[in-house]
Amino acid sequence: MEGVSRVRVIILNSALGPLDYRVPHGMNVEPGSIVIAPLGPRQLVGVVWEPDRLATEEVGDNRLRPLLHAYDAPPLSEPLRRLIQWTANYYLAPLPSVLRMALASMSALEGARTITEYRPTGLVPDRLTPQRAQALDRIAGRQGLVKELALAADVSDAVIRGLVKAGAVEAVEVDIDAPFPLPDPDHAPPELEQQQQDAAALFIDAVQKAEFAPFLLDGVTGSGKTEVYFEAVAQALRNDRQTLVLLPEIALTEPFLKRFSARFGVEPVAWHSGLRQSQRRRAWRAISAGQARVVVGARSALFLPYANLGLIVVDEAHEVSFKQEDGVQYHARDVAVMRAKLEAVPVVLASATPAIETRQMAEIGVYREVKLEGRYGAAQMPDIEAIDLIADPPVRGRWLAPRLVREIEDNLERGEQTLLFLNRRGYAPLTLCRTCGHRFQCPNCTAWMVEHRLMHRLACHHCGHVMPPPRACPECSEEDSLVACGPGVERIADEVAALWPEARTAIVTSDTIWSPAKAAEFVGRMERGEIDIVVGTQLVTKGYHFPNLTLVGVVDADLGLQGGDLRAAERSFQQICQVSGRAGRGEKPGRVLVQTHEPLAPVISALVSGDVEGFYAAETEARRSAAMPPFGRLAGIIVSSEDLAEATETARLIGKTAPIVENMAVFGPAPAPLAMLRGRHRQRLLVHAARSLDVQDIIREWLGKLDWPRGVRVAVDVDPYSFL
Ligand code: ADP
Ligand code: ZN
Repeated sequence: MEGVSRVRVIILNSALGPLDYRVPHGMNVEPGSIVIAPLGPRQLVGVVWEPDRLATEEVGDNRLRPLLHAYDAPPLSEPLRRLIQWTANYYLAPLPSVLRMALASMSALEGARTITEYRPTGLVPDRLTPQRAQALDRIAGRQGLVKELALAADVSDAVIRGLVKAGAVEAVEVDIDAPFPLPDPDHAPPELEQQQQDAAALFIDAVQKAEFAPFLLDGVTGSGKTEVYFEAVAQALRNDRQTLVLLPEIALTEPFLKRFSARFGVEPVAWHSGLRQSQRRRAWRAISAGQARVVVGARSALFLPYANLGLIVVDEAHEVSFKQEDGVQYHARDVAVMRAKLEAVPVVLASATPAIETRQMAEIGVYREVKLEGRYGAAQMPDIEAIDLIADPPVRGRWLAPRLVREIEDNLERGEQTLLFLNRRGYAPLTLCRTCGHRFQCPNCTAWMVEHRLMHRLACHHCGHVMPPPRACPECSEEDSLVACGPGVERIADEVAALWPEARTAIVTSDTIWSPAKAAEFVGRMERGEIDIVVGTQLVTKGYHFPNLTLVGVVDADLGLQGGDLRAAERSFQQICQVSGRAGRGEKPGRVLVQTHEPLAPVISALVSGDVEGFYAAETEARRSAAMPPFGRLAGIIVSSEDLAEATETARLIGKTAPIVENMAVFGPAPAPLAMLRGRHRQRLLVHAARSLDVQDIIREWLGKLDWPRGVRVAVDVDPYSFL
């Protein structure tokens, strides 16, 4: 008699290892099949895996429970299964947590169907409660499930249902699986310059060969990197292969969509956290069927089950937001290269300011570097000048130096647009009592409460805790004694309004541009010339192309250098380069003024003199001599608990049991700079090791032997970018 047909399954539950099941008669599964498996009384989704790739306890045939169901969705491909395993292994994450990113839409697994969504009819109900008014105001122009509209409007489901009854909101049947329109590679190709053509030819050739080929596309802002990699996308389209374009933030999606449809006739398929459930489902199904030809998304798009991938592009590849900081702490740029390798396709990392890690890979010949020299057409790189805040200080209580004020004045007179960059949301980073010196701290975090005057709130930027600004000091009860210390973008906008009451200004931060639609609105207003001065955070530093924007003022260039982690200077340099890159992208030349207390600091002098290579060479050398990444490896171990003693004791235990390994050192434990976050006490250890060591294996074995109390969380951050 034949043995029982058994399979190994990864269940979507991070606490569980792989489990074996029996395949009932008549069910067809293979590695990658998505199934429902019983677990006690529960039914959980899982994926069938190769048994020889996952160890588990052997269970006798007679004790196996049967699988309950196999979905009619394409099995996860072999390269994707290897990617999931590689990611779990490299970043020390539970396999189910990584797998969940591939199965990002449960409803996509069910068969094709239509759903009922709701949208406002424009009718105002007779009984207009404040809740209803708020709901109608916020869902204007939206469509979605009742709960999605309720969430968007910040009201209960019942309010939305009430509006349906009252006729102010109506039901719409949506065919959620309609195919996406296909981009046309020949819709509107640009005429490339010679160097652009040469670069494009290399990528096209790589797409044709369909083998792993990592490229660094390195060219200043405005050199035409996007146009060049679009040619590779066009080739993938001609070959009926899919392309994934990763962008660092969803705010950049909107301008990208427009640009893409100008070139290819239709928008690509977008994937980001702002999608409605029905949109996610439709995108997932089209991606797994190979019908979605070009997908643009934030890092989570990386793990989707592309049926037929032919090319990966990581745009603005130097961006640190590609590093995910919670859940599975992976770096999307690095995982993208691994995916390209496993899928045997080319990958293009595009950046005007490539990370030292990436430059080093090009240097040693692992990545092929493709350079674009200079800006496209007549556009020139902007002139960068420093303003010494000690020699030319702003008026007391103001933040813009006289020189910058004059330049803005001139720019306004010429009718050109100005961008003021300050990487700080809100009005002021610190609020204190003038009488007793009391400072407002977050009750849950080691962080000051940041005043947001527009929202009339004090907010913690780490945990989201908010409170209304009190009239009296909670410490000394003195009334109206609170003062704002230091500037945020809102305060700069106030200063601009005081100096030029007529100027039309816009504040651009994640508080004001929180959806692709908001980004589109901002872009539209800029393009129509309805804004004179933009005051923004890092959100405005990249991607945008406004030909009439000719002046950039960096309000505080020293800000990024505080905190002083490994990449502080590099990150400052990148940020200022990127924001400078917004100036003078059209025919008019651009100017950049950088306010600093330290005009001689290497970052500033490199920017002013344009000695990019010199700056990178010095930074790289410093990393090399300290054996820091990419020349050595780091891993952070973060221990946290609501109970201070438990956190401290566990961290001490981890420190005490650190293995002694040649070419590896363990630092700490010590309280993290963010010693308290969301009510949890945090301790950190840092592992520093030679490149050649398999740090993950060492850490796995080390921590695997230890036990800690239930309330303690131990997170390992491999290749950390944050040291807070
Ligand atoms: P980057 O991605 O390097 O910042 P872009 O691809 O955004 O550069 O190009 C900057 C601007 O120049 C864009 O408006 C782009 O459309 C335009 N441009 C670049 N190359 C060409 C070309 N060959 N023909 C027409 N326009 C081009
Ligand atoms: Zn907080």
